[in-house]
Amino acid sequence: MKYEVVIGLEIHLELQTSSKLFCGCSTIFGREPNSNCCPICLGLPGSLPVFNRRAIELAVAAALALNSDVQEKSRFDRKNYFYPDLPKAYQISQYDQPLARGGYLQIEVDCASRIINLERVHLEEEAGKLIHSSESIMGSDYSLVDYNRAGIPLLEIVTAPDITSGREARLFLDDLRSVLLYSGASDCKMEEGSLRCDANISLRPAGSDELGTRAEVKNMNSFRAVELALNYEAGRQEEILAAGGTVIQETCHWDEERKKTIPLRSKEGSSDYRYFPEPDLLPLVLESTFIEEISAALPELPPARRKRLKEQYGLDASEAALFTFNRSLGDFFEAAAARYNQYANLAKWVQGDLLYYLRESGKNVEEVEPQKFVDLLTLLDKGDINRPVAKELLSEIVLSGTSPQKMIRDKGLGRISGDEQLLPIVEKVIAENPDAIENYRQGKEKAMAFLVGRVMALTGGRADPGEANKLLKEKISRK
Ligand code: ADP
Ligand code: ZN
Ligand code: MG
Repeated sequence: MKYEVVIGLEIHLELQTSSKLFCGCSTIFGREPNSNCCPICLGLPGSLPVFNRRAIELAVAAALALNSDVQEKSRFDRKNYFYPDLPKAYQISQYDQPLARGGYLQIEVDCASRIINLERVHLEEEAGKLIHSSESIMGSDYSLVDYNRAGIPLLEIVTAPDITSGREARLFLDDLRSVLLYSGASDCKMEEGSLRCDANISLRPAGSDELGTRAEVKNMNSFRAVELALNYEAGRQEEILAAGGTVIQETCHWDEERKKTIPLRSKEGSSDYRYFPEPDLLPLVLESTFIEEISAALPELPPARRKRLKEQYGLDASEAALFTFNRSLGDFFEAAAARYNQYANLAKWVQGDLLYYLRESGKNVEEVEPQKFVDLLTLLDKGDINRPVAKELLSEIVLSGTSPQKMIRDKGLGRISGDEQLLPIVEKVIAENPDAIENYRQGKEKAMAFLVGRVMALTGGRADPGEANKLLKEKISRK
């Protein structure tokens, strides 16, 4: 039997606030363990949570950017479970009245557009972090706990089971990350844990519309790992089903080293958490003007920008994707395009040589002035400099920001032309190549190409071949 893969993702995003969700503690990453804590985020008895307005603004911005329907009224619940990283033994989360419902993200898969629907977007608090005495919890004698992260605002984004392969999951995550970055809600750094993803995956007979039993896969630390883990898990489930077995609903752990998913435990159902309304917080009621203001402040978002870049500048799909994902590079391209209308040439230089010199020098594109870059391309277009010189100047513009005109003056890199500069070189070439001159006089056109080549060589390519040709012909026929 042929099976099809069904995937739904749960993404956790740390919101970019300077203080935690329910207290004033700092959210700065990498501080001394347990230094960003207070009675509220440590869950001491008698402490009371207070909403962080900024967290709500960022959550609403992210939800709107994902086309999710922000609810005027939502509510917080306690999700009860015991684990050492959770000092209160419950997490304040949202359950049946989430911040936002539905939504979708339009992604591109192999140049075709796909819609991935969302089920919900909700707010909750982050847990602390366990540091095991050796690599994994299983082989450790003890674990240390750091509550600096406990209480940082988290946004949970849950997709519908709309994703059909590991690769599509990765493409979705790339696009999701880009939208979230544009929304300003998070820095989306996977390496610092501010963006994490759990994946639910099941198989079903191709064409069926019933969902199969799923496994939940955790512990992937990159989008690449999500793709690999899902591909592996799809294979594992297919083997079970093909052998006539049944998949059991369980939680698996992705083992990065062995590139395998390892079943951990049977999955708990939501009734195990004994959710109940958080008695210390009022329901969250958002005024429509509050939501509208946040909506109005959102920038143009990646799917729209990608489409506009193609239409406005005639860029191809990969260029439009690059200038969307790499937002500052896209901003640079657009700033330069406002001053220079050879868009195809501009795009070629930005994604080629400019990107190369930026990587080589470790500079950010924000440090390069679009005007100097445009001046350089214009000098090249006019033939005032040649390509090797243009590249040399570009590397210098990136490094030091010197203007191309100044460098051309100071270093004498401009075009060699006219009676004063070019003529003496032409005369030298004529004096040194009597055989070629003779051949040319006898009608061999190839000899002229050779002579022009000599002029170009002697000028380091800085002469205009057309002018060299003209001067050579004048001189030779006069003799
Ligand atoms: P949980 O109890 O794990 O929170 P949810 O119903 O909230 O379960 O679903 C979590 C995620 O799992 C969602 O992204 C959803 O689309 C996905 N999902 C649910 N059922 C399946 C299934 N049978 N196969 C694949 N993904 C599924
Ligand atoms: Zn605190
Ligand atoms: Mg869930």
